[in-house]
Amino acid sequence: MASPQARQPTGMNPISFHLDRPCLECALAVAADATQPHQRNPVDDVSVVHFEAKSARDGAWYDVAAFLLQRGFETGHPEVKVRFSGLGGEADEWVNVHECIRQCSLPYEARQCAIVVPGDHILCFQERQKQALYFDTRVVDLQRRNHDSRGCHCRFLVRYDHDHCEEIVPLRKMCRQPETNCRLQIMSAMTRGEEASTDLGALTKRE
Ligand code: ZN
Repeated sequence: MASPQARQPTGMNPISFHLDRPCLECALAVAADATQPHQRNPVDDVSVVHFEAKSARDGAWYDVAAFLLQRGFETGHPEVKVRFSGLGGEADEWVNVHECIRQCSLPYEARQCAIVVPGDHILCFQERQKQALYFDTRVVDLQRRNHDSRGCHCRFLVRYDHDHCEEIVPLRKMCRQPETNCRLQIMSAMTRGEEASTDLGALTKRE
């Protein structure tokens, strides 16, 4: 079962992270090869691939441990059979490639709260009495707060897609789509620009 602990930052530079990610086509090629009898166990083969899949059972997203089989590519309704990370073969599911497979969402790091804006589509850890799972949500509103040594204290009002419940959550329960890397690049460039202009200002004063 997925948990926030299972989605700790990888330590890779988030800006260049997407370059290190295998593409879905590569993963599916491995799945296709896995149907050949001479291949090794497909679970071992694709353990390095970082994708997540949406389960039809509960509508939650889980890390993919393996792509086992594929079908329907010739008819335009491609599906893959996935093994969910941490779950056994009895939980394997056929899922639609277009709607239910995507690159793994990434946990926000403390300073990355700056790129969150209302309307963002994010993955959020929902804790209920009987289950705690990752679901798609929309950011409805947010309250920026100070940061200290313990990190981000901002609060985010999110609405879950599957049950339309609203909840106020901290950043540590939220994961972003890899596409938001471009926002981090912009934020990083602007921070560097501000530092450079501050340095220039200090030099000018000294002259
Ligand atoms: Zn914050």
